[in-house]
Amino acid sequence: SNTFDAAQFKAQFPALKNQAVHYLDNAATTQKPSVVIEAIRHYYQNGVGNAHRGSHRYSRDATKVIESCRQSTADFINAEHSDNIVFTQSCTAALNTLAKGIGEQLQAGDEIILSLLEHHANLLPWQEVAKNKGLVLKFLPLHNGELDIDQLKTLITDNTRVVSLSACSNTLGCAPDLHQARQIIPESCVFVVDAAQHIAHNTVDVQQIGCDFLCFSAHKMYGPEGLGVLYGKRSKLNKLTPLLTGGGMIQQVGLEESSYLEAPHRFEAGSPATAAIAGFQAALDFFGQWPLEHIKHHKQTLCHHAHQGLKQLNEIQLFSDPHNPAGIVCFSLQEQELNIELADFLDRHGISVRQGHHCTQPLLQSMNQSSLLRASIAPYNTREDMDALLRACEAFLQNQKHIKQTPSDAPAKK
Ligand code: PMP
Repeated sequence: SNTFDAAQFKAQFPALKNQAVHYLDNAATTQKPSVVIEAIRHYYQNGVGNAHRGSHRYSRDATKVIESCRQSTADFINAEHSDNIVFTQSCTAALNTLAKGIGEQLQAGDEIILSLLEHHANLLPWQEVAKNKGLVLKFLPLHNGELDIDQLKTLITDNTRVVSLSACSNTLGCAPDLHQARQIIPESCVFVVDAAQHIAHNTVDVQQIGCDFLCFSAHKMYGPEGLGVLYGKRSKLNKLTPLLTGGGMIQQVGLEESSYLEAPHRFEAGSPATAAIAGFQAALDFFGQWPLEHIKHHKQTLCHHAHQGLKQLNEIQLFSDPHNPAGIVCFSLQEQELNIELADFLDRHGISVRQGHHCTQPLLQSMNQSSLLRASIAPYNTREDMDALLRACEAFLQNQKHIKQTPSDAPAKK
């Protein structure tokens, strides 16, 4: 059927069986469906091997797990070939691989363009190479809570070598138009896309985006922790010096010098995370079984409902667009210092939201916020989750009023 049964979807997640659980931190990580848990258990249960090394059956089986998931991942984002897919430890590791590998080819004065809302994972690795090589970082500004992609035109110069942008903000949920960006970014620049948030909400087609590299993590799309994906165009991947060196990535090793394999193995030094890859295969299969457009609609209805409800509470300021494609509800109490108390209060009511800077300190500084609260919606969330959030926020604000009306310096009763 091409409708979406949210209750049936939710029933796939053992951690959500308890009705009192309102998990609203999905932008940080998602819960895992039984099929993913079962795939990991199955891999360990049947005897493990280290891939690409020995010649025995367990090693061959592990290799099969990895290479068939590599193909599924390539299909999932419409990569040209499975060799375009590198398994890393995380999206963060993938971005570090790129910053080091690309940064090494750059010279003092070369420019890298990022945006003001990048996650620290797409900022700090570039800062490191910029410091070491005398590169210049430039930042695309925000305009009314959205990235102004048109401004790329004024930032790009003859010295621009890299543009690295998040496809979707983990803090505000806004998603810049990557097609517009591609049209502005010259072919001679390397175009990197951080799809960590985007991947759980959209169909991703790397050839259609026309990016050189794209990164994401398995754990934000129902897969296991400890696994990231780095997609790259083959010619560009093979030019990069790997971040990690060691076993499994070499052609020939001498005492003084060695040569490396081509992508993807070039970037996969050390024993692979085969169990995580087995789990990710199950996550990809699971992901593909649900109608994405209906899911989007479901999430956006909830997101809109939460925005409407919070808007009615005077003491709360909203920062996300009610129609943002990621299902993010970003808000703050007028008294920012109390955000942490509200988050604790929500937690005590079984509602998991995140509070803080969300690994986007420069963005918060630009908004004059020291902290934000974020509820982020997944397809397994329900109207009840939203109403629980709204009720609890209201109760918290009532309590605050009560505290204020009771002067703390009142004389103690006898
Ligand atoms: N980029 C964005 C936009 C993110 O939201 C995250 C995760 N919060 C990352 C990068 C880094 O992902 P990971 O922590 O899985 O490496």
